[in-house]
Amino acid sequence: MSLYRDQGVVLRTWKLGEADRIVVLITPGHGKVRAVAKGVRKTKSRFGGRLEPLTNVSLLLYEGRELDVITQAETIEHFRPIREDLDRMTDAMALLEVVDHVAQEREASPRLYQMLVGALGALAARRSPLLVPAFFWKLLSLEGAHPLLGECAGCQTPAAVTDLVAFDLAQGGALCRSCRQGLPMSPAALALIRRILEGGLAGVLVEPGGPAVAEVAALATRSMEQHLERRLRSMHLLEHG
Ligand SMILES: [Zn+2]
Repeated sequence: MSLYRDQGVVLRTWKLGEADRIVVLITPGHGKVRAVAKGVRKTKSRFGGRLEPLTNVSLLLYEGRELDVITQAETIEHFRPIREDLDRMTDAMALLEVVDHVAQEREASPRLYQMLVGALGALAARRSPLLVPAFFWKLLSLEGAHPLLGECAGCQTPAAVTDLVAFDLAQGGALCRSCRQGLPMSPAALALIRRILEGGLAGVLVEPGGPAVAEVAALATRSMEQHLERRLRSMHLLEHG
C-alpha cells in the first residue's frame, strides 16, 4: 500500500462498525476520496472532531483497493461562522451536495477543490443570497455546461440585436421572443447571470435579495438539477423548511 498526502474538504461521513467512520472528501490531487477513519468515534480519537463535514483538512492516507485509510488529519479551516449559523450551514450543505455529485474518484480536481474552498471562505465572511446560485453557474461552466447567453440558443441571433426573454434548460441557454420556450427570464436576471460568469462575482455577492436574485437562484437550481439528472436534496429542504 502506498502512502500519500493531500488536502480535502469533508463532504459527508457515515458510520462503519462500532468505532469507525467512512469519510468522503474532495481533494485537489486525487478528486473524490472515500476513506476510513479508524477509531474516530471513540472519545479519545486522535482525529478529534476534524473529520466532520465542511472541515478543510490536511491528510496523510494509505491507498487501499476500495477505501483509503486516513492515518493523519490536521485542520486547515473549520469554517466556524458557517457552523454557528443555520442558514449558512444550509447553504454550505448545498455546495457540498453538488460537489459530491460532480467529483470523480481518483481524478485530480484542483479547480473544483479551490472553487469550493473559495465559496466556503466567502460564506464564512458573509451570507449572500447569490452565493449558492453563483457557485452552481460557475460549476456548470467548469463542467462544460456553460449557458449560452450572448445569443439566442435557438436561432443564434446575437443578443445585441434581439431581446432574450426565456431560458431553456434542455438547450442550456437563453432564447429570443420568436424561439421562446422553457422558463421566462427577465433582463435583470440575464444581466446577473452574465456578471456571475464574466468575472463580476465579487460585485454580485453584495447584491441584496429581490425578484431578479430569486429568479437567478431558481434558474441555477433547475439548471444544476438538469445537468445532474437528479433533484438536489439540500435545495428542497430549503424550499419546504
Ligand atoms: Zn431565437
